[in-house]
Formats: sequence, C-alpha cells, structure tokens
Amino acid sequence: MKSTTLQREIIQKSEELNISLLGFAPVDRWEKPSSKLPNQFEEWIPPEFWPQSIYPHCKTVIVIGLPVPLPIIETAPSIYYHELYKTVNILLDIRAYELANFITDKGYPSISLPRDGYGDIDILLNNPITFFSHRHAAYLAGLGSFGQNNVLLTPEYGPRVRFNSIFTSAELEPTPLQSRDICTRCLKCVESCPVKAIPLLDKSKEFFPDLIDKKSCALCSKELREEHRSPCGICIKVCPVGKDRVNYNWDDILTNRREKLKKAVDHVRSYGSKIE
Ligand code: SF4
Ligand code: SF4
Repeated sequence: MKSTTLQREIIQKSEELNISLLGFAPVDRWEKPSSKLPNQFEEWIPPEFWPQSIYPHCKTVIVIGLPVPLPIIETAPSIYYHELYKTVNILLDIRAYELANFITDKGYPSISLPRDGYGDIDILLNNPITFFSHRHAAYLAGLGSFGQNNVLLTPEYGPRVRFNSIFTSAELEPTPLQSRDICTRCLKCVESCPVKAIPLLDKSKEFFPDLIDKKSCALCSKELREEHRSPCGICIKVCPVGKDRVNYNWDDILTNRREKLKKAVDHVRSYGSKIE
C-alpha cells in the first residue's frame, strides 16, 4: 500500500537537505516502459541492471538531482569545473545516504547508490558502463528527456544537473512521466565535441538518441584528468536547454560581453591545472 504520509516526509526531508530535483519511479517502469516516454531506444535496459534485480526489496527508486552552475561549467575543461564536479558528487552521495537512512528509520528498508560507480577512468575504457544508470532512473522518474549528447536534459537545468538514486522498499506515488522531448536538435553538442564522440542526427532512424562513442569520450576525460581538468563538460555547457540560462542571464553575457568572458575563462584556465 502506498504511504502518502511517508512520501510527504520524504519531500520535506529533501527540502531540508536542499535537494533541487526529486522524482519517484516505481520499479515496473524498468520492466514495462511506458509508450508515453519521450525517447525510443534501440535496446532497452537489460534486466540485470534493473533496480529490482540489484535490490530485490526495491519497490520505488527515488532520484535526487543537484545542479552544476552554468557560469562555472562555462570555464570547462578547467580546475574550477573539476573541483565543482567532485563537490557535487560528494554532496549527492551524502544526501542519498542520509535520505536512505531516514526512510529506513521510518520502517521501510532503503539503500543509497554510489554517484559514480567506477574505480577509475581506465576501467571505463574497457567497459564504459556502470552497474546502475542514474540518468535512466531520472528519465523514468519523470525528470527529463535524453538529448543528442546522451545526457538527460531537464527543463530546469538542461543537462547541467547530476543525479543519484535511492532504492526503497516503500511503495510511493510515481512522479508523472515527462512526455515531451526537450532536445531542440540544435546539434551544438555534436559540433563542439573535441573528439567527435556524439553522432550526427540521423533522421532516417526511428530511435533517438543514438549511442555516443563512450570510449572516445572516456579517453578525452583520461587525458584531461592527467592535466587536472577533467571531465570535459563541453557538450553540457553549450546546450541551450534549461531555465538556468535565464536565471543566470547567461545568453545575454555570451552575446554582449563575449570578450570579457573569454578573458575570465582564460584566466581561470591559466592556474591550478595544466595549460592547453
Ligand atoms: S563530454 Fe566532451 S568528449 Fe565527451 S561527448 Fe561531451 S563534448 Fe564529447
Ligand atoms: S546541444 Fe542541442 S542537440 Fe545537443 S542535447 Fe542540447 S538541445 Fe539537444
């Protein structure tokens, strides 16, 4: 039976933890994906990656999201974004841990997932996937749609948001699915990728998004890591989707103060990491 009291308490606790995005996905959304979902995949998530396969008590996946501020990612690749990326990941791990324990203490066993479930970028070069996808969990929790860059785009932050997940035995009211595909197909991500890892839009294909070249992307990240300015982040910073552009007046800055911005970005990139 669904507990509305518990759900209210989870929402309130998330607000206390300053969690910006929150969604609830029942596990049957992995098993029977709705035809209303905005993207059509050539291959669906294999059963061993489903939450109910990893944690048999799981009834609902709770997805939390924290934003990556646009003015900081504008400097990427840089030490500034490198440090922020680590901070957001740590916060997501802590918030998910706290929320899972909070729900367990209410009588519903729950566990948090790791934000980044891989030991090193070298592991991703050989096997570029992890045991659970937070992007797909966020998609099934109604938080957004996939973009051409294979990242989840949200109405609030476009792709500039990172997710973590909690598996809970509680049955909770699902968040309505995002049925609108919010990728504009502007292809800015395709054109900006330094290693051409993002495929061009193939309109003859009925499936979207196409798979990106994860190995090339991981190789790029490995090189940047050696220079202390990973991850790359370029396909995320150029994406026009997201209300954060309005909140930061960012398009105005890009248009009217381009020279000033370039000087600021060059300055940030000149210290604390290897220079290009
Ligand atoms: S993160 Fe960088 S290398 Fe990877 S797909 Fe995006 S732009 Fe390309
Ligand atoms: S940059 Fe354009 S094509 Fe790429 S994900 Fe964003 S909206 Fe879609």
